[in-house]
Amino acid sequence: MNIYEQTGRIFDIQRYSIHDGPGIRTIVFLKGCYLRCRWCCNPESQEYKLQELTQGGKTRTVGRDVTVGEVMDEIRRDAVYYSRSGGGVTLSGGECMAQPEFSEALLRAVHEYGYTTAIETTAFASREVVDRLLPHVDYFLLDIKHMDSEKHRQFCGKPNDVILENARYIAQNAKNLVIRVPTVPTFNASAEEIAAIARFADSLPRVGELHLLPYHRLGQDKYAGIGREYTLSHITPPTNEEMEQLAAAARAAAPRLHVQIGG
Ligand code: SF4
Repeated sequence: MNIYEQTGRIFDIQRYSIHDGPGIRTIVFLKGCYLRCRWCCNPESQEYKLQELTQGGKTRTVGRDVTVGEVMDEIRRDAVYYSRSGGGVTLSGGECMAQPEFSEALLRAVHEYGYTTAIETTAFASREVVDRLLPHVDYFLLDIKHMDSEKHRQFCGKPNDVILENARYIAQNAKNLVIRVPTVPTFNASAEEIAAIARFADSLPRVGELHLLPYHRLGQDKYAGIGREYTLSHITPPTNEEMEQLAAAARAAAPRLHVQIGG
């Protein structure tokens, strides 16, 4: 099949992002994720099926089926920004590895136009899927959320063993890899837990950067909007001082890495 005819399911395309890979980027948000992180700011991304979301008294359908060609028509509008800034296209979600045929075709199309590719991923996928996407990704932005598998399962719905295995494999084979840590009070926002993740990141070849992403409540209202309960309403975002302390713990555990707060 012509890659431009491959279909997939997305729920948003955001232009002019500067936080999800180098330069100015267009972010394509894919529908469907294997995890169920309790803090997820895009709960409407998790289910592959189309959903109704009610916000501000208005209800809309989340998710649409598109071809790679249709997405590229939108992406190409910002070509001038990619070339000037070293930017390109980032696949986010949801989890792009949950739609491997569409993700591979879209990444290949982006490369055919000469733009850079990035994916935000948890790498909870089979090795076959990882191998399928690897050659077409310039920048991996890989979430490592916790080193304790049981706690990972409690807060994200799945254990972490597949993720850690894939992280090691991706680190050996990727062109560029950044480890990102959503930093969530009561889950992983202690010096010990962040230091454990930093040590793991430090053990991976080619990883030079660790980004600590502070928990925030953007998206909380969307849970009620899709008929779900937000189960972390009892926690508050970490303060700047607390984030600095966690960054210091990460730097002490992994002095080789550049540790920053935010993406
Ligand atoms: S991996 Fe990302 S998209 Fe999936 S549930 Fe967790 S935060 Fe949400």
